[in-house]
Amino acid sequence: MNNSAFIVSSTTYAGEAGKLRKDFCIDYTSKKKKSLQRINDEISKQVNDRGETITCRKGCPVCCVAYIEANIQECEAIAFYLYEHPAVLASFVARYNQWRVGISQISREFARCEAILHQDPGLKLSSDDQVVLLEVLKKYHRQSIPCSFLEGGDCSIHEVRPYVCANHLVSTPEAWCRSENWYEPNSANRPRIYMTNIDELYETGFYVNDLAKPVIGFMPAMVYRILTEGAAYIQKLTRHEKE
Ligand code: SF4
Repeated sequence: MNNSAFIVSSTTYAGEAGKLRKDFCIDYTSKKKKSLQRINDEISKQVNDRGETITCRKGCPVCCVAYIEANIQECEAIAFYLYEHPAVLASFVARYNQWRVGISQISREFARCEAILHQDPGLKLSSDDQVVLLEVLKKYHRQSIPCSFLEGGDCSIHEVRPYVCANHLVSTPEAWCRSENWYEPNSANRPRIYMTNIDELYETGFYVNDLAKPVIGFMPAMVYRILTEGAAYIQKLTRHEKE
């Protein structure tokens, strides 16, 4: 891995400000693991109550070509996890650069999508914005570009994966999980997706100051920018929250 573009962990977590970041990440990760278990338990109960069986299997990469959003707290904690697991960090960086090439055809629409999400993370979007967002999500999904954290069919950050990833399980055949079936309400082969509430996605607790509203974006890009731009990027994303 070429480290020259990266803020190394010894700098990232140095001094009083760095200690705050590190302590936040450790505490957040511990709480998140409990939340991920809670999500899993609640979805399992829903599935059992309907007498169905989850058909998702370890190593199935089908969902991992969808647009995955996460909040800034999750991304900050994932960046910390990567610093603690250098081999995972190196693989992520290598794949991220390929991913950027893959999305270059839709990068402008993608930026618009990010702006919409940043502007209203509660997803109370205007109908125009909803149309734009849905179109970009469909287009992105159709491209089938694997998430930069997908390694050999497995999630390389499984224990700290985004809430959104943990919150999608299906009870229908794997073949139905093709992108055209996801977004077509009338498709006979629409996957039956089980979800639960993930209020954690919209939480505002953060180090230094709490946020006035959630900060949500596209997960791999946000993690990459935290790794390369550090606290300056976090301040930029949250600056308006503190004014
Ligand atoms: S973070 Fe993991 S589970 Fe989520 S899309 Fe990426 S590889 Fe898949």
